Amino acid sequence: MAKKQFKAESKQLLDLMINSIYTHREIFLREIISNASDAIDKLHYKSITEPDIAVAREDLLIRVSADPEARTVTVSDNGIGMTKEDMDANLGVIAHSGSLEFKKGIESADVDIIGQFGVGFYSSFLVSDKVTVRSKAYGQDQAWEWKSEGADGYTVKECQKDGFGTDVIMHIRPNADGEDFDQYLDDYVLQMLIKKYSDYVRWPIHMDLEKGAMEETGEVDEEGNPKKEWKTHREDTVVNSMVPIWQRPKDEATDEECFKFYQEKFRDYEDPVSVIRVNAEGAVSYRAMLFIPKAAPYNFYSRDFEPGLQLYSSGVMIMDKCKDVLPECFRFVRGVVDSPDLSLNISREILQHDRQLSTIKANIEKKIKAELARLMADEPEKYAEFYKSFGTQLKYSIVDGYGAKADVLQDLIMFHSFEKDKPISLREYRDAMPEGQEKIYYASADSVARAKQLPQTEQVREKGFDILCMSEEADDFVVKTLRQYDGKDFCDVAGADLGLETEEEKKEADERDEAERTVTDFVKETLGDRVAAVKLSRKLKTHPVCLSTQGEVSLEMEKYFASIPGGIESNKVKAQRVLEINADHPAYAALKEAVFSDQEKAKAMAEIMYGQAVLVAGVPMDDVSAYSDSVFKLF
Ligand code: ADP
Repeated sequence: MAKKQFKAESKQLLDLMINSIYTHREIFLREIISNASDAIDKLHYKSITEPDIAVAREDLLIRVSADPEARTVTVSDNGIGMTKEDMDANLGVIAHSGSLEFKKGIESADVDIIGQFGVGFYSSFLVSDKVTVRSKAYGQDQAWEWKSEGADGYTVKECQKDGFGTDVIMHIRPNADGEDFDQYLDDYVLQMLIKKYSDYVRWPIHMDLEKGAMEETGEVDEEGNPKKEWKTHREDTVVNSMVPIWQRPKDEATDEECFKFYQEKFRDYEDPVSVIRVNAEGAVSYRAMLFIPKAAPYNFYSRDFEPGLQLYSSGVMIMDKCKDVLPECFRFVRGVVDSPDLSLNISREILQHDRQLSTIKANIEKKIKAELARLMADEPEKYAEFYKSFGTQLKYSIVDGYGAKADVLQDLIMFHSFEKDKPISLREYRDAMPEGQEKIYYASADSVARAKQLPQTEQVREKGFDILCMSEEADDFVVKTLRQYDGKDFCDVAGADLGLETEEEKKEADERDEAERTVTDFVKETLGDRVAAVKLSRKLKTHPVCLSTQGEVSLEMEKYFASIPGGIESNKVKAQRVLEINADHPAYAALKEAVFSDQEKAKAMAEIMYGQAVLVAGVPMDDVSAYSDSVFKLF
């Protein structure tokens, strides 16, 4: 019999299937089962719409079996079946629509995408060197057999088949090049693949599985007890669970059930903090079940962590970790998205997929944000648990993309409050601001305790204003990115202008007599480039000195950049330091006297004042022994 040729693109694809090495060969089973399920859907639909068709719903099923001797895996269904013409039309071409897009996919060498999305019937060639399809269309007397050994074409001839429906018989390839094809002849492997990819197919998938039990042999042992031995038998078993939990109405799946599902599916031994159920209808219809985990997986902050949601199309898994539906800032969220609008087959308009996925992603972002905000307001303890694990992620996500996600995230982050002595949100801080407070004050240090010791905090607290503590690495970058919150600027207490003084007070502070100028100039000269300026201050209350900064770079940022290993370039990121000396402190009076009487002593004092300011600010001291020398010069 003359072989018919495949259409051009199909041939190209088949070559690819047979000759490339895939990491996703196992998806063939999912694709063939999904076709079987579609065929049953079609017949079921027909039986509902055409009353003279007598098909009982409960008889409709899919069967999977392996024959290791013959090296075949067979997927059978009693669905709509195919006529000879159907076979020619459906199994002789690939990519009924969108074939161009498909070719583009191939040329860009993104071969793995085939494994991710699947290419339908042809994926049988991922594991087979010969495929036979026997099918009888519903209502027809004649059955047909389609056969192909790959890219050089196929034949169709008459055959015998009892009932209607289709058998796809895949002849499994021999093991080669280190690839194990034998595994697909193993019932256990097939069962696992069905569980993994086709668990929620709407129709039952049957397998004859070997079951074993201890059974009595009929004999007794020396003590008169009945003898038992391990006996096995084969049993018809439905291996898929059919109705996914996310498809059940809310009142039919309790939170506890969802949590159990989460633990099994995502291998977490703890319950999640929260489950979000989405049932969206509109431009794209989908259902989603999303989980906010309690703890970060061990590799969460490393490159190994792969974020993404599991993507299903009508119960068939098409992708394990789809990044395109999960906003990066919420990369810790686990869950599933199921949409009948997504086709299994990448050959159909890749672009259309993109639009659908981004619609889903935008929607999901809103849902997650709303749920986190709800937790923060209604269940603060739970939120605190979540925040311990993922707060840093939220903060970095504000910095990433230069604040593009600020609107989504700024109300979900927290900073330690001086006043409340616990982490609070920016909203909470803002709402508690008394009249007359124009700025959101923050103090940077590597711990809350250290921040509280900063001399500059005193004057702010004395005014009755709260201070937020920036003690995490990301914090300084967060405030620099946000710049303001709800119309109020952020203000570093170690910065130059705290906005606490009236114009008059400022003028008074700036007025320095000749003698004062001589003292500050002397100190500046002694310290050289280490400081950008030396100032007298009347606002320091009890502290003799402090270190503040001018410009954009804070001391905390300088520390951060210096801590990056090998960061030669980043070492150049330096804060412009300002040494502030308390003009009302006896230390200043002593310094002043020395400047006019004993300059060697005054130099040592200037060094010590700077050293003290550095120590209190929690910044590493450049030259500890020089500092120590200065101290002993005074003895
Ligand atoms: P897709 O399923 O995406 O249309 P496939 O290459 O998987 O692409 O299948 C091509 C066509 O072959 C299907 O659309 C269907 O018409 C037909 N077909 C495949 N498997 C079966 C089956 N088990 N029963 C009936 N028709 C089938």
